[in-house]
Amino acid sequence: AKQQGRNAYEWFTRAFTDTVSERMVLRNDLQEAIEREEFALHYQPLIDREGNLDGVEALLRWEHPEKGFISPARFIPLAETTGQIIPISEWVLKRACLDMQLLNQQGLGEIRVAVNLSPLQFQRSSFLANLRQTLLMTGLPAEQLSLELTEGILMDNTEGAIDTLHALRSMHVGVSIDDFGTGYSSLSYLKHLPISTVKIDRSFINELNNSEDDAAIVQGIISMAHHLGLKVVAEGVETEEQYQRLMSYQCDIFQGYGLAKPMPLEALETFVMGLSRK
Ligand code: C2E
Ligand code: CA
Ligand code: CA
Ligand code: CA
Repeated sequence: AKQQGRNAYEWFTRAFTDTVSERMVLRNDLQEAIEREEFALHYQPLIDREGNLDGVEALLRWEHPEKGFISPARFIPLAETTGQIIPISEWVLKRACLDMQLLNQQGLGEIRVAVNLSPLQFQRSSFLANLRQTLLMTGLPAEQLSLELTEGILMDNTEGAIDTLHALRSMHVGVSIDDFGTGYSSLSYLKHLPISTVKIDRSFINELNNSEDDAAIVQGIISMAHHLGLKVVAEGVETEEQYQRLMSYQCDIFQGYGLAKPMPLEALETFVMGLSRK
């Protein structure tokens, strides 16, 4: 047993140091990525009940020169702890606004873009001023921008958060609650917040046709959100069965690989032109 215990300990320290050094390497690489702008944005369409484009979500991509594509699910949490998320977020916001202005100028219709916000970014005192500055600089109408926040951001810092939300509303910037259902907040809590949309987390949509519990939760979220005057987006819609069931639950907007995957700006142009010719 002693032998086993020591092996387990050695395994643990090795695994631990591996992760720490891996994180340090990643952190350095991330710094270079910021300086060299190795990032790109992909856009995933959101489709309404009539099959029209409701907007797009901007999703960050990092193409590492040697390691290739690194998922945001891996580097965003790290960047969040090191503070590197701040320059990255500024780049994302500016790029998304510039890209949509480009589509405006091409006459593709005024597409609304949703940008994911990190907690650190949202809590900074300079957040609103930076946002106004970016809108001004890029010329994108505020109505075309919406921000996605997770429930945690609002729970952590309630009073300041609510003030910021009111300021965003008066600017006509949209706000959605992302990954809804995974945190602790309830819909009754949302009633007091100036937000327009909730996005039901992918994990519930995944199980929609297998789990009666998840189906009931999704149905409950949609009907309560509608009573509160909120729109509902279902994310991670992959199958026709999920789509049909969500349609029957009166879900407003659909996002997922079954409808369209995230794509570079050029592909989005083609996608939008295809939709409007329908
Ligand atoms: P999220 O905000 O929940 O974004 C949705 C994620 O689900 C995206 O993953 C998207 O590609 C993926 N997805 C969409 N449809 C489907 C589907 O039908 N099936 C499956 N399996 N997945 C689907 P992605 O792009 O890897 O992003 C992961 C997370 O990284 C995002 O989750 C978001 O939390 C974060 N993130 C991405 N871009 C940014 C950014 O610019 N800033 C910040 N702060 N976070 C970001
Ligand atoms: Ca999101
Ligand atoms: Ca989400
Ligand atoms: Ca998510």
